[in-house]
Amino acid sequence: MALFTKEEALNYHSTGRKGKIEVVPVKPCVTQKHLSMAYSPGVAQACLAIAEDASKSYEYTARGNLVAVVSNGTAVLGLGNIGAAAGKPVMEGKGVLFKVFADVDVFDINLDVTDPDKLIDIVKAMEPTFGGINLEDIKAPECFYIEERLKAEMNIPVFHDDQHGTAIVTAAGMLNSLEITGKKVEDLRVVVSGAGASAIACTNLYKSMGVDPENIAMFDSRGHINTSRTDLNASKQAYATKREFASLAEAMKGADCFLGLSTKGVVSKEMVKSMGENPIIFACANPDPEITYTDAKEARPDAIMGTGRSDFPNQVNNVLGFPFIFRGALDAGATAINEEMKLAAAHALAALAKEPVPDYVCKAFGVDSLTFGIDYIIPKALDLRLIEYVSVAVARAAMETGVARKSLDLDNYGRQLRQ
Ligand code: NAP
Ligand code: MG
Repeated sequence: MALFTKEEALNYHSTGRKGKIEVVPVKPCVTQKHLSMAYSPGVAQACLAIAEDASKSYEYTARGNLVAVVSNGTAVLGLGNIGAAAGKPVMEGKGVLFKVFADVDVFDINLDVTDPDKLIDIVKAMEPTFGGINLEDIKAPECFYIEERLKAEMNIPVFHDDQHGTAIVTAAGMLNSLEITGKKVEDLRVVVSGAGASAIACTNLYKSMGVDPENIAMFDSRGHINTSRTDLNASKQAYATKREFASLAEAMKGADCFLGLSTKGVVSKEMVKSMGENPIIFACANPDPEITYTDAKEARPDAIMGTGRSDFPNQVNNVLGFPFIFRGALDAGATAINEEMKLAAAHALAALAKEPVPDYVCKAFGVDSLTFGIDYIIPKALDLRLIEYVSVAVARAAMETGVARKSLDLDNYGRQLRQ
């Protein structure tokens, strides 16, 4: 049953001040002196300090806590290419989540631009304003090129959440699934349905966790991705195997893991039945997964099953990642969010799922208890320990890999985040 009506959702957005966000000054501005410092002439002192030393922009402006959520509206949620204006409610919503979960401020930047090179030029030019760039809902395959170039050409973190947020959260689930099932990552046979933004990024991260590319069978809307295909873009080509599968059903036989980031209903109960022992299934198409939790568990009670849905166990929810990843990256003054920082976030999420779960979390999800096991491999979104676990791990990885501009006392930093 839906939690809200269409009218309620629209009223939520339009009642009172329109939209979901506003700008709040953080310095007093009630006397003439304040006024002359907030703006001219006092502000010139801050300007001159930055003109002399560019790093001072993190001291005298808000950029160190400010992230641009940048979208061109070409792949908004499951709604498709609805354009930048129609995507704005989503980007404002993303800003709300950043703020509520990790106190990161966001300007949502909705660009009426589809040409990737033009979009890159615009985002690059915004660097002085921001501490980080969260690319959002930009369609594949352009999103890969856009992110790669921005990462290479900008000196602040650039992170396409649809790709890496999903990858990090499923990777956390994968780490715990391996532990529970005793499967070895190097032997894991993985079937991936989907070859878009999230599927490619997830599979890339699993490869850096040790999954053998030869053991991966990836499918797009036209079938199995293999070397006899002539219609593949570069990101799909990287997963083309000599081995060919005639169908998803054939590839699923004996497989250890299924990752779905494609579309509703492409997996049947029979396919799940044919998988190997203790199959690991992440069926993440939203709002309706490749196979429902109920069907998958009926077919195979031994399955570890996750979906994108909050009404079933093991929700793959990006909010477990992006707010805390940016929090850690910003606090460490990181110039990038690299592979090590992503893996650190995945390991931190996996570790948190093994800790006893506080009562308020169980209560929020209407259950008596949650215990590490096949129906609880990923932490819950309302767990207040997330910020400490993930942000500290990300900041540590930034410092260890030489991309941090600051050296934090991590114990102290963790304590601050906890408060
Ligand atoms: P995307 O870039 O548009 O990719 C979709 C992919 O699915 C494309 O590669 C497409 O094939 C493929 N596909 C479509 N129909 C298929 C079929 N019948 N069989 C196999 N593959 C098929 O989208 P995305 O951003 O990666 O998202 C994909 C899905 O995952 C969406 O439903 C999204 O809501 C969901 N998602 C969930 C989470 C989460 O739960 N946390 C996070 C991210 C995404 P072609 O390449 O041939 O077009
Ligand atoms: Mg998105």
